[in-house]
Amino acid sequence: MTREEIIKALSPDTDPAPLFALADKVRRENVGDGVHLRGLIEFSNYCRRGCYYCGIRAGNAKVRRYRLSHDEILDCARTAVSLNYKTVVVQSGEDPLWDTRALAALVEKIKAGTGLAITLSVGERTKEDYKALRAAGADRFLLRFETSDRRLFGMLKPDSDYDNRFRCLDWLKEAGFQVGSGVMAGLPGQSLESMADDILLFKKLDLDMVGIGPFIANPDTPLAGADSGTLEAALRMVALTRIVTKTTHIPATTAMGSIDPQGRQRALRCGANVLMPNISPAGHRADYSLYPGKICVNDKPEQCAGCVDAMLETLGRRRAEGYGHSLKAVI
Ligand code: SAH
Repeated sequence: MTREEIIKALSPDTDPAPLFALADKVRRENVGDGVHLRGLIEFSNYCRRGCYYCGIRAGNAKVRRYRLSHDEILDCARTAVSLNYKTVVVQSGEDPLWDTRALAALVEKIKAGTGLAITLSVGERTKEDYKALRAAGADRFLLRFETSDRRLFGMLKPDSDYDNRFRCLDWLKEAGFQVGSGVMAGLPGQSLESMADDILLFKKLDLDMVGIGPFIANPDTPLAGADSGTLEAALRMVALTRIVTKTTHIPATTAMGSIDPQGRQRALRCGANVLMPNISPAGHRADYSLYPGKICVNDKPEQCAGCVDAMLETLGRRRAEGYGHSLKAVI
């Protein structure tokens, strides 16, 4: 698709029904009906950064900070095994205490103890750090670039560097990770043009995974009172990303489910093929408060598993077999 076609398809004036139907077809033909379940472990909400959109930003004094211990994280991973998930996504803020040595030791323990595929989502690090984490056994890494609009990026992430974010994505690929990136849809000041550029960039970066969710304004951040993104806009982006990138793994994100009770189901019907059920301990879920209204904060991992299986059943889909590695050739 051309940039102009993508911009038109993103416009609220265009009927999304044909777009969603095409995306569903492209999804079925390229990645099939299986849905990969990735168990999400939110292991620390300490963060050194000040991203304007994010509830666990360093400047938010209202957050009750926590970090799970190695043993608690290993317990979560064992729960993932018992629920027959094949991947854990180990995510946190940029917590200085979880340095690369500690993380590498954790990855080795999870791998040795469970054999699960391991996805890290721990923010920006050095090239050497990424290499060490890959050598320790981590398979995949998620690092959203958040927006392709350099000016908007600078406004929303005042202590991050746009070029460095993309350099990190290069380093991750060089280190041999399956790499996921993504953006928020509906950020304040985000144009349809920049959203089209986001989608074209997903393709150019040759990503293995692309995560997209609506921006949800958090009252405890500098963006309190801003308009949140809409589910519709996020779904259009998912659909277009499927059509343009074809074989990437695309999650129906928690943010979509949080902004609308049917959000994840709708995403699965217009291009998405992954769900990330939460397997964090119930006691800390509410404190990993990126945005308000987050779903499943009082649920136990087993409840989330039951809920996603029921969701798949209703949609006529099934859990995918295997680890759900990248469908692109990985060297
Ligand atoms: N510290 C890691 C993990 C970030 S949390 C990193 O920087 O990569 C995962 C994602 O949550 C972010 O990449 C961002 O896209 C999303 N997020 C944060 N705040 C949000 C909000 N208010 N609304 C919607 N999504 C948000």
